[in-house]
Amino acid sequence: MTPALSPPTRAPETAPAADLDLAVCTSLLEGLADAAWLVDLHSATVVAANGAAHQLFRCAPQGLLGEPAAGLAASPEDLVWWTEAAAGQFAPLHSDTVVATPDGRALHVSRSIRPVHLRAGDGGSALHALVVLSDRSAEQRAEAQREELLAELQATLESTADGILVTDLGGRVRAFNRRFADLWGMPVSLLQQHDDAAVQAWMARSLADPVAYGQRLQALAQATLISANDRLELVTGQVLERVTRPLFSGGRPQGRVWSFRDLTEGLAAQERIESLSAHDPLTGVANRSRLTECVAQAVLQSRQASGSLALLVVDLDRFRHINDSLGHEVGDRVLLDVAQRIQGCLRQEDLLARLGGDQFAVVVSPADAAAAETTARRVLNVVAQPCSLDGAQFTLTCSIGVALAPSHGSTADELVRHAEAAMRAVKAAGRANYRLHQARAEVDRRSHMKLDHAMRQALVSGRFRLHYQPQVSLDDGRITGAEALLRWRDPELGEISPSRFIPVAEDSGFIVPIGDWVLSQAVRQAALWHSKGLSMPIAVNVSALQFQQGHFIDRVASVLAVSGVPPQLLELELTESILVHDAEEALHRLHALARLGVKMSIDDFGTGYSSLSYLKRFPIDKLKIDRSFVGGLPDDDSDAGIVRAILQMARALGMKVIAEGVETEAQRSFLHDAGCDEFQGYLFAPALDALSFEQRLPTLALPRHERRKPGSPIRLVRG
Ligand code: C2E
Ligand code: MG
Ligand code: MG
Repeated sequence: MTPALSPPTRAPETAPAADLDLAVCTSLLEGLADAAWLVDLHSATVVAANGAAHQLFRCAPQGLLGEPAAGLAASPEDLVWWTEAAAGQFAPLHSDTVVATPDGRALHVSRSIRPVHLRAGDGGSALHALVVLSDRSAEQRAEAQREELLAELQATLESTADGILVTDLGGRVRAFNRRFADLWGMPVSLLQQHDDAAVQAWMARSLADPVAYGQRLQALAQATLISANDRLELVTGQVLERVTRPLFSGGRPQGRVWSFRDLTEGLAAQERIESLSAHDPLTGVANRSRLTECVAQAVLQSRQASGSLALLVVDLDRFRHINDSLGHEVGDRVLLDVAQRIQGCLRQEDLLARLGGDQFAVVVSPADAAAAETTARRVLNVVAQPCSLDGAQFTLTCSIGVALAPSHGSTADELVRHAEAAMRAVKAAGRANYRLHQARAEVDRRSHMKLDHAMRQALVSGRFRLHYQPQVSLDDGRITGAEALLRWRDPELGEISPSRFIPVAEDSGFIVPIGDWVLSQAVRQAALWHSKGLSMPIAVNVSALQFQQGHFIDRVASVLAVSGVPPQLLELELTESILVHDAEEALHRLHALARLGVKMSIDDFGTGYSSLSYLKRFPIDKLKIDRSFVGGLPDDDSDAGIVRAILQMARALGMKVIAEGVETEAQRSFLHDAGCDEFQGYLFAPALDALSFEQRLPTLALPRHERRKPGSPIRLVRG
């Protein structure tokens, strides 16, 4: 730092001083601790100098005598001063200044030049200048070091992430860093100006609870030796940790150091970590583990209150389509939107959780079945509100299953499982609805297993039979074929309909061995009838799983080969689902079967998803109109329309058409007029065992010349 130079002061010259001679004066000079020398103004040279002066200028004893005064310890103002003094204008000079020594050093000094009148040889007095110079370099160095230290301290203060304020015992600001000003949003000028009252007021104003802060501050101010930590909340929502320590100097408390640390981000991060373990990161609603906890708690509470609670499982319908067509990013946003909608229609005390994927759970407590239904309807409604994302407009629906505690379970796992089962039942029944869990579903599963077991027993014990339902030409009433239909009478369960046991067998995979048995049994019957001169195709129902077996075609080929029956006497009834599932593979198999020479038809036509484009590619001989379209004939316009459309389409594709489930003459007549080829149904005959079929055959399949006229009623002649 540059020392503060005090301007030279000139005092007006006064009366000549006492009479001294040079010798006395010289010895007086030696008594001074400061460097001192005497200048004869007449010659402007040094005439006496003490040891301290010689030391300061680093010269030999007496070495200064005769030196020109102006060059000895010169500062810029000296040149003028010595000239004026020599000209008789002596003005005493006192200054703190920097002087240059002849050997090139710069010295910080306090210098005074005062007049001294010495007795002259002639008895008069000669004006001399007494120059006294006290070296202040050491002091200056100390000052510079202090400054440097302060600068280092300030740099250190600035380098910490904490806001620091140093006050004296009276609370006045002694030091601060910028971070302090930033944390408090305080203008630095306020601190720089040491406007302590304004600083205090600013801090008090920034606090969320200034009263409590004021009280603590007072307590601290009194307890000068106490260190303390506490937290302050600012009106901005920031949370600061404050640490204060007493500041000692010379062993006595002089003030306080306050440091402020911003905890806001850290606390937020911690909060986020806590919430992550309990919340679904995508939607922010509770996750499965939080749901489990909440259900446990709610079950306990409702038990104490002898009440009940409901758990809803909400599953979005066809959500995969959104992901597939609009991308996962949009899918995520839809999930977030749905979560917000559901949350928005719930009560404060209800809990929404995401179970994963597009599945959510809602806990309503307390709630009985009626309250659960109200909530379910509300959720259905908000989810079904139109959605608009990135310009795409769509409507979502959801399926909801509901389980109640304690009647359906008392843990989250149990309740979710039951509610999921109910939700799946909603999906199976066409989606976009809700359903309460029925304890029956559980019973169903058990009876399912029991049925599956009984079926396996039935196959080994030979309790399955085949019945044959005639297929009749609408044109001339001739029997054109028969459909083999499986029959099963269980000793314990009685006669069981295939509509009941076939789905169970399809579910368990047992349909493969059963289907194989049906195939070989039906082909054997065809061979038998063929040998008796009754050559008609027998239609066999083939399940999707059976069709997809790797060896299915080989199996058909070998069954035909073993029986020796012409392949065209076997017809396979396939479902549309077989064709839709892996259409290329299906096409490949159908062609292989066609090459074997077997016939193929599509059963229950119209209930699946066949499209013209691939029907055209498949080697199908016949479409079998599902009986659900036949039931409404001839009055139901929509049924009639569908049947006509199927007929038209089949004609275009060169396929034959058979209608199943024909029960009335009106239906038969409509089908005949519409151009249908064949029919099958109770109107003509139910499925009959092989013997009954044979016995009635003469009456059923009348010789051509005895056949009824086309269009005349055909009645089953009961034997
Ligand atoms: P499906 O292949 O469509 O068989 C026609 C069903 O309609 C048979 O029921 C038959 O008895 C019934 N039916 C016949 N005429 C009439 C009628 O005029 N009115 C009414 N309402 N129904 C009539 P069934 O025998 O109970 O078989 C039901 C289903 O079980 C069959 O439907 C078929 O999908 C399946 N199924 C039966 N046997 C087998 C089999 O051996 N293998 C496979 N995979 N499925 C079979
Ligand atoms: Mg069938
Ligand atoms: Mg059918």
